[in-house]
Amino acid sequence: MKTVLFNLTDGELEKFVTDLSQPRFRAKQIREWLNRGAPDFASMKNLPEDFRSKLGEIAETLPVKIVKKLESSDNQTTKFLLELGDGEQIECVLMRTTYGNSVCVSSQAGCAMGCKFCASTLLGLKRNLTVNEMFAQILVAQWELRGDKVRDIKPNGDANNGDVSHIVVMGTGEPLQNTENVIGFLERANTEMNISWRRITVSTCGIVPGINDLNKWGRPINLAISLHAPTDELRSSIMPINNKYKVREVLDAAFAFSATHNRQLMIEYILLGKKDQDGSIVLYNANEDHALKLAELMRGHNVMVNLIPWNSVDERDFASISGNAVHRFQDILIKNGIHTRIRRERGADIGSACGQLRLKNAKKG
Ligand code: SF4
Repeated sequence: MKTVLFNLTDGELEKFVTDLSQPRFRAKQIREWLNRGAPDFASMKNLPEDFRSKLGEIAETLPVKIVKKLESSDNQTTKFLLELGDGEQIECVLMRTTYGNSVCVSSQAGCAMGCKFCASTLLGLKRNLTVNEMFAQILVAQWELRGDKVRDIKPNGDANNGDVSHIVVMGTGEPLQNTENVIGFLERANTEMNISWRRITVSTCGIVPGINDLNKWGRPINLAISLHAPTDELRSSIMPINNKYKVREVLDAAFAFSATHNRQLMIEYILLGKKDQDGSIVLYNANEDHALKLAELMRGHNVMVNLIPWNSVDERDFASISGNAVHRFQDILIKNGIHTRIRRERGADIGSACGQLRLKNAKKG
């Protein structure tokens, strides 16, 4: 098996290069390339050519390899299917926005949570990702943005200077089932990539002890809760985790987090329809009564409700609801004084719902 150089400590990397009869400073040169996200040794232009080809035979650069890269038609979103050292695959998405460059990072290969609307859980949980495997996802995005240019690290600098500026841990997996590694990854992203806490978001389906752990960790990041239903009965029907942690319990822990850190809490709410026997679409969690109940839960709290129109997944038997129904739901929240927005679909033309690229590739394999 090839040695992954990114996983070596500085001392180990030095030993690795001197064992190949190279001077010690080569280790520093390689580290600089790795920290820019260099995907191969051919990119490391200041290394001698024969050393580069030797490295290509016995080593890898990062602990993730790009299997597929899809670009949206507006060139604002790039989706990567990445392979890990053991052959597991994950997805990661780079979104170029007016406020900066955001990377959606996966925290697990697969997911055990079993949410009924999600493609990422269909093959179950394979394993937790390591700190390096999460960090490498932002390096892949950084290389995509800046290639071999050195990252422009400015303390409190402009968020939109062309580098990765925002992280959302919202890809495949439940981050709070892998809390220790997620925290280790975010600490490194903050110190090594200068990504401020306020530009980092962790999204959870509602693992209450994990939310409390994040609160104790004490960094002022953003927390997003995948709520998707305002009552326990409805939520349990689409999110098995609700049998363990009820709506009230999850929201109390989340409100406590946002109060401690003085951050607005993000509430994620997928608007789902379901086909009736006669083929008509019924609003599954998106009727007027659901909107009123959701508003009641949110009243008096510093929240932003992100409404996400359902993105079709072939293997799941939900249906999209009309644009009118989406706006009706939003209007009820607004009339009740709740901050809300409809999440614009990004890169819908490059692999639709989260987890589908990985799923399709696994089926082919
Ligand atoms: S929505 Fe998130 S927590 Fe739920 S199954 Fe999908 S990846 Fe897991």
